[in-house]
Amino acid sequence: MSIQSNLNTIKATLPEYVTLVAVSKTKPVSDLMQAYEAGQRIFGENKIQEMTEKWEQMPKDIQWHMIGHVQSNKVKFMAPYVTLIHGVDSLKLLQEINKQALKNNRIIDCLLQIYIAGEESKFGLDEKELSELLTSVEFRELKNIRILGLMGMATFTEDQNQIKKEFTHLKTIFDSIKTLKTVNCDLNTISMGMSGDYQLAIECGSTMVRIGSSIFGGR
Ligand SMILES: *Cc1c(COP(=O)(O)O)cnc(C)c1O
Repeated sequence: MSIQSNLNTIKATLPEYVTLVAVSKTKPVSDLMQAYEAGQRIFGENKIQEMTEKWEQMPKDIQWHMIGHVQSNKVKFMAPYVTLIHGVDSLKLLQEINKQALKNNRIIDCLLQIYIAGEESKFGLDEKELSELLTSVEFRELKNIRILGLMGMATFTEDQNQIKKEFTHLKTIFDSIKTLKTVNCDLNTISMGMSGDYQLAIECGSTMVRIGSSIFGGR
């Protein structure tokens, strides 16, 4: 199957309110260009250097989403152009993003990553840390970031009930904070679901899916 037909097949199954992030990590620019020519404008990468190289080479109407774990000292490389940072999981990182956004005279949109999996290896905040962050004075002072919602990754398992439980948990947390009104929050996005579980994620309330291998093939 071609990238174009994979993309069209997936898009046909997505409700119109769900945003598709085409996860292109490790793939060459020629593959991304095939998706671009098929109309895709949102790409997700998990390494800042790789994303920046692709950004330099590709058309400028692309929206670049950082979906990987972000190290504070690398934020400056993507601050001029990144559209959405999915994996924010600390006040310290938000403060650095805010600082770099200010330098670039812009506001950078972010999602807070929530720990929902039953595995130790996944990054993210728990519910208590989330509420502490959102209610802290330091957070309210950050004027050059905007939180659009939450992101989560389910456990890597075949057990659909387990995955469903984790996605539903993320949706519940989102619902508990969505009415929060601050200058730097505009909560409307739940980023959850990948190639193997995006349909289930949408059933559980996802508004943004991050799909890689089902579009571009295995890595
Ligand atoms: C790689 C990756 C994806 C896409 O995974 P696929 O299974 O290839 O669809 C989604 N989200 C994150 C955070 C990733 O690192």
